Amino acid sequence: MENILVTGGAGFIGGNFVQYMAAKYPHYHIYNLDLLTYAGDLTKHREIENEANYSFVHIDIADRKAVNELFEKVDFAYVIHFAAESHVDRSITDPEIFIRTNVLGTQVLLDAAKGAKVKKFVHVSTDEVYGELDFDPATFFTEQTPLQPNSPYSASKASSDLLVRAYYETYGLPVNITRCSNNYGPYHFPEKLIPLTISRVLNGQKVPVYGDGKNVRDWLHVQDHCSAIDLVMHSGEIGEVYNIGGHNEQTNLDVVRTIIQALGKSEDLIEFVEDRLGHDKRYAIDPTKIEQLGWRPVYDFESGIAQTVDWFLENKDWWEQIISGEYQQYFDRQYARK
Ligand code: NAD
Repeated sequence: MENILVTGGAGFIGGNFVQYMAAKYPHYHIYNLDLLTYAGDLTKHREIENEANYSFVHIDIADRKAVNELFEKVDFAYVIHFAAESHVDRSITDPEIFIRTNVLGTQVLLDAAKGAKVKKFVHVSTDEVYGELDFDPATFFTEQTPLQPNSPYSASKASSDLLVRAYYETYGLPVNITRCSNNYGPYHFPEKLIPLTISRVLNGQKVPVYGDGKNVRDWLHVQDHCSAIDLVMHSGEIGEVYNIGGHNEQTNLDVVRTIIQALGKSEDLIEFVEDRLGHDKRYAIDPTKIEQLGWRPVYDFESGIAQTVDWFLENKDWWEQIISGEYQQYFDRQYARK
């Protein structure tokens, strides 16, 4: 049985990936390494937590001693690295933790993987490292687009991407970097646009939309992201970068309207608020390279949003517990009228 280390497996995408892998590959032993920050929770893994091929390890990726001890105890065939501080707004108010976790934490993992001779280190990154596009629909991010991150979050991810590249070039560590567009789906933390909108509409609360709502994002269902990482992990050419996206560009306003319609509520709930600092205009992915590897998304936006809305309706306990308490204070600070 081969061991896989999934970092950030208590978060949104990492959590979905753990579930996806456990169901598809019972012959892998999955080690879920996570610090359990505000964004991590293990309730999503209740059904597998007692399985012999699943283990949780409570570690900070920036804790070199703890990470090294883990690699001394367990031989990992694969490292799939999701753990990160992931929210742009939080990086604008508190950039330091983004550097510590996303940059230093990644370097600690790279050092450990280098010493352990893993088969593959997959670094899960974001299209935000490329900066922004203008509204010309003929322009896309390709793997050759220069890195021009604009937020402290994307700058920290771009920094970690460059470290991963350097460990491949310098030490021959077998790596892939994936750069995916915005994800949505089950267990999405309610600070992000889609779950924020669903949870607030369900509670009859106003939905804040930055600026004029015209910023464009390229949305992908988290299950389609998981299948892409699975493919890169097993078939990606070593040293290569793969962009992941499903040709699904939407303005923020259209996303909010789609959800409001799906829930049969009124657009009066929309409230335009002061724009995010340095708000990137548009992201759009050219996924040709990963499509050539054989990947296709399963969800279109309509079916993906319908599935996600149903999930949030059926799992109110999960998100209601999150949006109470500390998260509510964060929300009030973030969207307080200036
Ligand atoms: P998330 O915030 O939901 O989850 C992050 C997880 O990392 C949490 O479980 C948290 O506890 C854990 N973590 C944070 N700091 C840690 C540390 N120091 N040590 C160990 N664990 C730590 O994030 P997400 O949205 O699931 O994103 C996962 C990855 O995918 C990130 O690397 C992000 O940059 C990337 N990504 C996200 C999106 C998106 O739309 N959400 C798109 C493309 C790429």
